[in-house]
Amino acid sequence: MIEMKEVYKTYSNGVLAVNGINISIHPGEFVYVVGPSGAGKSTFIKMMYREEKPTKGSIIINNMNLAEIKERNVPYLRRSIGVVFQDFKLLEKLTVYENIAFALEVIGEQPKNIKKKVLDVLDLVQLKHKARHFPNELSGGEQQRVSIARSIVNNPAVVIADEPTGNLDPDTSWGIMNIFEEINNRGTTLVMATHNKEIVNTMKKRVIAIEEGQIVRDEARGEYGTYD
Ligand code: ADP
Ligand code: ADP
Repeated sequence: MIEMKEVYKTYSNGVLAVNGINISIHPGEFVYVVGPSGAGKSTFIKMMYREEKPTKGSIIINNMNLAEIKERNVPYLRRSIGVVFQDFKLLEKLTVYENIAFALEVIGEQPKNIKKKVLDVLDLVQLKHKARHFPNELSGGEQQRVSIARSIVNNPAVVIADEPTGNLDPDTSWGIMNIFEEINNRGTTLVMATHNKEIVNTMKKRVIAIEEGQIVRDEARGEYGTYD
């Protein structure tokens, strides 16, 4: 489902951020990506949704080779991958409902299907009662739940999250993790970069550790390690 072969990424300033990564992630897996700051975790994750292109190597996701995909086909890729960010990236001028509906409108979903799909995902993240609110009227944890709802409303095979609990307190973070677990239990593959040691050590999922652009550890029921 997700396969990287001999993947390298050198930024235009000469920094080698990813230095020869090989990995296979299978449908339905839940994978934590850990490592120190500057290790290359974000770069690794950004290449999975084609925010960054690899300098060398192949990345196959849902049978699409990201290294070869044409710019005009990137929207098709984005339909099959949901992305969740540390800073939520909600549209401030749209309500909660509209933020999620927008993700369906841009891919041309039929208007008759939009309301049901939006309300279904709002139900899953327990925020139906905030549908008419604006992002700045919500707590950080609620905003992240909206952003998770938006990431899954297209029913993607894969959800990728980069430090989704990085701005949240521990209790709120656990609420967010429970939602990700529920999404994974429904069959969605999840890849998440995180600095949350307690969560990684409690959940006992696959852990990939990256240091200096390389995978230094890949364990089926892994631990966080000794990073800050
Ligand atoms: P992490 O997510 O583990 O903190 P990153 O992937 O963000 O690591 O960064 C890996 C390395 O690449 C770091 O040295 C960082 O400074 C560098 N880097 C990240 N993004 C860019 C960029 N857009 N341009 C140049 N260098 C970058
Ligand atoms: P239920 O049938 O479960 O009560 P509703 O249809 O009343 O669900 O909608 C739940 C929430 O979503 C309400 O706050 C409602 O106002 C809001 N909502 C429903 N449809 C829209 C829409 N088209 N635009 C904006 N908000 C909507």
